[in-house]
Amino acid sequence: MSRVVAVVGGGISGLAAARALAGARPASLELRDHSSRHKGESNLEIVVLESGDRFGGKILSGEFRGRSLDFGPDNFLTRNPSLTELCDQLAIGDDLVAPATSSASVVARGALRPLPTGLILGLPPDLSALARSRIVSNRGLARAALDLLAMSAPISASSLGLAPANGAYEKGGPEWSAGSILTSRLGRELVERLVDPLLGGINAGGLDQLSLVVVAPQVARALVGHRSVTRALRLLAQKMPKPSVNTGGKPRPFFLGMRGGLGRIVEALVDDLRRRGVQLRTSTEVKALRRGQDRYELETTNGTIVADGVVLAAPGYVSARLLVDSAPEAAAELGSIPHSSVALITLAWPAAAGSLPRGSGFLVPRCERRIITGCTFLSAKWPHAANAGEVVVRASTGRYGDERPSTMSDDELIEAVLGELRELMGATVTPLATMVQRWPRAFPQYLPGHLRKIERARLALGELPALALAGPSLGGIGIPACLTTGERAAMEVRDRLRL
Ligand SMILES: Cc1cc2nc3c(=O)[nH]c(=O)nc-3n(C[C@H](O)[C@H](O)[C@H](O)COP(=O)(O)OP(=O)(O)OC[C@H]3O[C@@H](n4cnc5c(N)ncnc54)[C@H](O)[C@@H]3O)c2cc1C
Repeated sequence: MSRVVAVVGGGISGLAAARALAGARPASLELRDHSSRHKGESNLEIVVLESGDRFGGKILSGEFRGRSLDFGPDNFLTRNPSLTELCDQLAIGDDLVAPATSSASVVARGALRPLPTGLILGLPPDLSALARSRIVSNRGLARAALDLLAMSAPISASSLGLAPANGAYEKGGPEWSAGSILTSRLGRELVERLVDPLLGGINAGGLDQLSLVVVAPQVARALVGHRSVTRALRLLAQKMPKPSVNTGGKPRPFFLGMRGGLGRIVEALVDDLRRRGVQLRTSTEVKALRRGQDRYELETTNGTIVADGVVLAAPGYVSARLLVDSAPEAAAELGSIPHSSVALITLAWPAAAGSLPRGSGFLVPRCERRIITGCTFLSAKWPHAANAGEVVVRASTGRYGDERPSTMSDDELIEAVLGELRELMGATVTPLATMVQRWPRAFPQYLPGHLRKIERARLALGELPALALAGPSLGGIGIPACLTTGERAAMEVRDRLRL
């Protein structure tokens, strides 16, 4: 008898889930052994249900000034190699490209100041490089250096939200936010001026409301048991691979983008799914999910679908809505994850009218209270994405706790951004073209306790047969992490259906 698995959401998480359900070799290394246990049943119908009129979700490439550009993510970290592997499997790996420049600056004390070298997710293992950068004042530097005296108590696993060796979470007390742990050791100024713009910025959030173990798991693990954050970072730096080292014959930079935009990965993935016989439906919003006797009913804007298994790969707040009747506890956990909204403003101007400072762009600390949170110099970072003689930049606005962009019209946003670019880099230009891309509720905020929240949601879902979750709400905003959640969800559903 043929069985049906429905995947709700056609972003990278849902598409990766569909591909793994269709029997493809997982791109996530850690799932390879697991997948070999599956029989690879051919009597499985897989249907992807996407509410929008295209696949890809947050991954969106389009045309700007006649060039293909990304209007959402434009690169990804290669530390989790799943996306690189997927591109190789889809035969587009050769089009992955490293940014032409990756040295960024931060707005500090009235100027754009290049970031010190050797940072680990915004954290400096080397205080002399930090001193040379002049990002923090001498007072801020002296405060950070106190950490080296290692006079504080060792950092406990439970304060970081990590299960101690005996697994007794609750006994260890509540998890601290990334901001409170780091501020208590390194001082407020360093965290506000350097770490928050980088680590908070990646998540469109603020470190005072983020869980370190979710946003920087490797750093969190490296801190356990240490009295000094800086010393722990130095040990971690020694263990970390260097960028562009030769790994198995191929150089692997820390970041990669795709010639022609990351949307090409989605196109190749969709083609691959078609070849594998996966049904792909756009403009099909799932409105409700009901649990029948031993199957699920998905009510969509295009009729009802009956499925033996379901992967929920829509944003967490959508999954929460769909689960409200069949798994109210899981729905409550997922539904309580806050999200932040962002808007990206892309601008082009003639290079002759105003050149760019060096590097790939700059970050703006929250304490500056500006509308711009960061700016990418696209024409410097991806020379293939800009016409000769033109400068293309992308300003990011909006983060957790700053909803100003959502209340402004596109024209107001462009005006405000141009005003700040004038102040920050002297760009007194009339743009050749502008484009505003809004991403409402795009970034889940991983508050302290997030992993326990997800654990509780999973436990509550355990009562439902063959239903699994995927996407950034589980913890980890990056595309490779989302891809892995999709593949893992597919394995869970196959396990439960004994496929
Ligand atoms: C501006 C921006 C910049 C980013 N930059 C980077 C970066 O540089 N590097 C990086 O690694 N990551 C970056 N990210 C994060 C990354 O893009 C996302 O975390 C990831 O793409 C999410 O993929 P997803 O498939 O889980 O979710 P989504 O892409 O959100 O896909 C979910 C899909 O579900 C659909 N859907 C919603 N409701 C329903 C419903 N009821 N029925 C059916 N379908 C539904 C949606 O239309 C959507 O297509 C960025 C994100 C944004 C917004």
